[in-house]
Amino acid sequence: MDFRIMASGYERMTKTSSRIELTNILVEILKETDKSVVAKVAYLTQGKLHPDFEGINLGMAEKTVAKALEKAYGASPNEIQSLLRKTGDLGDVAALLSKDKVQQSLFSEKLTVEKVYSSLDEIAKSTGQGSIEGRIARLAALLNSSSEVEAKFLTRFVTGKLRLGVADFTVLDALALTFTDDKKNREKLEKAYNLTSDLGEVAELLANKGLKAVSEVGVTVGKPIRPMLAERMESSKAIIEQMSGAGVAEYKLDGERVQAHRKSNGEITLYSRRVEVITSHYQDVVQSLRSVAAKEFIVEGEAVALDKEGKYLPFQELMHRRRKYGIEEAMEKYPASFNLFDVLYLNGKEMIDESYATRRKALEGLLGRSKGIDNLKLLVVPGRGVETPEEIDSMLQEALAAGCEGLVVKDVKSTYRAGAREYAWIKFKPEYRANVRDTLDLVIVGASHGMGRRAGRYGTFLLAAYDKDTDVFRTTTKIGTGFTDLDLENLSKDLQKEKIAEKSPRVDATVSPDDWFEPHIVIEVIASEITLSPIYTAGLDKVRPGSGLALRFPKFTGKVRTDKAPEDATTVRELIEIYQKQVRQFKVETKEIEEKPAETTKSKRLKAK
Ligand code: ATP
Repeated sequence: MDFRIMASGYERMTKTSSRIELTNILVEILKETDKSVVAKVAYLTQGKLHPDFEGINLGMAEKTVAKALEKAYGASPNEIQSLLRKTGDLGDVAALLSKDKVQQSLFSEKLTVEKVYSSLDEIAKSTGQGSIEGRIARLAALLNSSSEVEAKFLTRFVTGKLRLGVADFTVLDALALTFTDDKKNREKLEKAYNLTSDLGEVAELLANKGLKAVSEVGVTVGKPIRPMLAERMESSKAIIEQMSGAGVAEYKLDGERVQAHRKSNGEITLYSRRVEVITSHYQDVVQSLRSVAAKEFIVEGEAVALDKEGKYLPFQELMHRRRKYGIEEAMEKYPASFNLFDVLYLNGKEMIDESYATRRKALEGLLGRSKGIDNLKLLVVPGRGVETPEEIDSMLQEALAAGCEGLVVKDVKSTYRAGAREYAWIKFKPEYRANVRDTLDLVIVGASHGMGRRAGRYGTFLLAAYDKDTDVFRTTTKIGTGFTDLDLENLSKDLQKEKIAEKSPRVDATVSPDDWFEPHIVIEVIASEITLSPIYTAGLDKVRPGSGLALRFPKFTGKVRTDKAPEDATTVRELIEIYQKQVRQFKVETKEIEEKPAETTKSKRLKAK
């Protein structure tokens, strides 16, 4: 397949922000795609070469890519720098240089998707001495054979700045339309994607074997399953009513969610909530898992840091483990315990369609059979059957006393629903009851520069919630409080990598910050309440025509949610629900006031008598 078809499609995609149009262009590209390369096209379109869990990142430094441009086009470093200053984008520089190329090199050949993919893959996998030279030479050879538009997108791809404005769900929509002519089939594709976390595999299977084969996709050890998530509820009574069968209340630990896979050859891999490999962060957990008496398994649990006395430490302490260097010291200083709450695969048997009750029993049995397990380091999360609201309330007190943040109440009849947030799991924290709002996780989509002491850095950030139905981020607040100087410095640095010239097509906003970003970084905030505002687009027209939902008195909690993908942020639907709950609560409160008229001086005097 001619790479030019993809590159010209990408060019058209960068010129639109309409979701429908973006999907249609993708469909056009996919229709011209040979079935043998459909997986590669799916990965490349997402700016990747492999699914995230394989951990193969291309990410070439701009400096190295500039060297390849010098080599391919005989340009001087000064020339490249001056073009870069003018355009602000190395992809545009490549296109300009390619346009000025006097003649095609003797060795240039027409670029195919296969050739581009295999060269990029070689670049990604080349390490060690002399690898930089090798990478430069390979990229230069590709550029040499590229037309303007191909050079532009190749360069953007290798620098990690492809930014077509399409996420997984849009690619799934386009796949459903291309190969089944019906967008509704996306659901079936999404299910397979949730079980494999591999968009390329789903695309390949659909193109070559059809929808039925996709529907039959199951769990594979070594392919992370997208995690099942919990809904929130604010009363123990409502939780009991929600359970279809009995419920089991488990401690909700405040650590990092980890999915552990053990293959039959003994290899153990750990995946994060974002389905990325995090094995190196938790070598002590891997060590503990070696004593588990099963040949093959997939288990899930929460890794929590422990202090010297073996007591749970808060999430922030565990984040010291999420670093590239000094992991050994961090492991020594903050040992982790792994608290299991689910088993999804066990010795050749898929467990996800079994009930929670069966899975929990299997998990307890598994650890019970395993010898030599350090009970402090590897254990099953405490859980107990609950039949009344009072039982939930007393379990909550017990969990809080043990240093947990609340409970997760699980329906005993429920199966494991990969990638779904449903009421089969309900999280319950004291914040919900006390009418103090729970935290929200929102995505930074823009920022404006600070003044005074904050000059030179960003001072306020534009935040958005995720609209899952349309795969778009919709704004809900500007925030400038709660940040320390160090927070602002770190965020400003991280955001430089996300900066884009215009608003991302995945962002819906009416306000204009100084800078726009790719919607990637998720931060945790609290607010006093949700109000209506014509300025913000989250929930626009959903509650009142012309109004969206805004946060009142938003404040940063100090947590950057590196463990969350932007698609895991608080959703617009959740904001609407919180707003509606607030309104209901307000009605109850005002009704109480009406029923209990304020005491007059006379009535007080009478009472005193
Ligand atoms: P929050 O921000 O409230 O911590 P979240 O948005 O990170 O929640 P949710 O799915 O809403 O994620 O809440 C469930 C999360 O709680 C899980 O992803 C997991 O990391 C954590 N957790 C802790 N203990 C348990 C448990 N016993 N069962 C399931 N999840 C648990």
